[in-house]
Amino acid sequence: MSIADNIKSLKNETGPINVTLLAVSKTKSNEEVLEAYNAGQRLFGENQVQELVEKHEHLPQDIEWHLIGHLQTNKVKYIAPFISMIQSVDSLKLLQEIDKHATKNNRIIDCLLEVYIADEETKFGLGFDEAIELLRSEEFAALKHIRIRGLMGIATNTDNQKQIKDEFYELKTFFDGIKQSFFRKEPTFDTLSMGMSSDYKVAIEQGSNMIRLGSTIFGQRVIKHWKNN
Ligand SMILES: *Cc1c(COP(=O)(O)O)cnc(C)c1O
Repeated sequence: MSIADNIKSLKNETGPINVTLLAVSKTKSNEEVLEAYNAGQRLFGENQVQELVEKHEHLPQDIEWHLIGHLQTNKVKYIAPFISMIQSVDSLKLLQEIDKHATKNNRIIDCLLEVYIADEETKFGLGFDEAIELLRSEEFAALKHIRIRGLMGIATNTDNQKQIKDEFYELKTFFDGIKQSFFRKEPTFDTLSMGMSSDYKVAIEQGSNMIRLGSTIFGQRVIKHWKNN
């Protein structure tokens, strides 16, 4: 199936159940992004700042870009003028830096807290306790140019369906608790971003309302090989 066909069938699958589709276009060409765009897709996700900035420059300006990869504080300034959402907030320090640059750009930047649910040491994110501590802090209360829209999580990369399901269940439960405790009066705390190509159906069953799909839309990513000699 073509990229356009994939977008259409995924929209048919997710639209009626109010699940938002984020097209993850990392490593993909502008032409491939445009094919998805021309099929009606407007939300795209990237995991690297430089690639994101280049794509933003060259592609239609009504694309809403989400950052989904780890963000270093010294790179916030490059995306602050245009980014729609930063899904990978994993520290108070980063959130303070985002707030600083959002203020400079006279805007409010939507963010998700990335919460660590996987059984892997390589994944970034806040522990449940750390997320609560952040939300309770005075430093957080002082930030006026960021808006926490919800949570993002990445499940363990495993074939064990039960484990994936349990991890998503935990994140959904945590999301409901956080909403109740900290955002009861804020209807904009509404986004639970969980599920990628390999596990998005389980994620939706467990209550996800935003899925981040790369290979399901664009095909497998080519891994670059480097020669040493
Ligand atoms: C790459 C990536 C995705 C999409 O992965 P696929 O398996 O290609 O769907 C989703 N979320 C994050 C955080 C990613 O880095």
